[in-house]
Amino acid sequence: MPGLHAGRRCGTQLGSTIASEIPDMPTLFEKIVAGEVPATIVHKDERVTAFRDIRPAAPTHILIVPNKAIPTANDIADADESLVGHLFTVARDLARKEGIADNGYRLIINCNAHGGQEVYHLHLHLLGGRPLGPMIVRT
Ligand code: AMP
Repeated sequence: MPGLHAGRRCGTQLGSTIASEIPDMPTLFEKIVAGEVPATIVHKDERVTAFRDIRPAAPTHILIVPNKAIPTANDIADADESLVGHLFTVARDLARKEGIADNGYRLIINCNAHGGQEVYHLHLHLLGGRPLGPMIVRT
């Protein structure tokens, strides 16, 4: 999509590209937070936005993102502790709303290349609605 960018300036490494060399463009998720790219929003408050993943990996697959840009888990500042905690309380409430709290669900944050991160705007995946199997494939 023109004008969109999976990453932005940060002190971390994107595959073989040093992220600090990437122009400071808004990420896809910043555009969703700003209402400039459509998404199925399921929660929005002054600190956090949650929307359905466009390619769901489970019956419930919601992404919970801070409204402000934090590229990766490496970039979380000490001052962001309360914001990051809020991502989890929103996830807890959404799990109840989705009816998956009792059976259980999985919360995932991917970081950088080995973590499989595709969009460089911190996000918490809320997945549930079926047994999810082992956390990662053991090799
Ligand atoms: P990650 O691999 O942890 O960076 O996850 C990025 C997630 O964003 C993937 O699960 C994608 O399916 C999802 N995604 C990509 N584009 C969109 C979009 N436009 N709306 C909603 N979810 C998206």
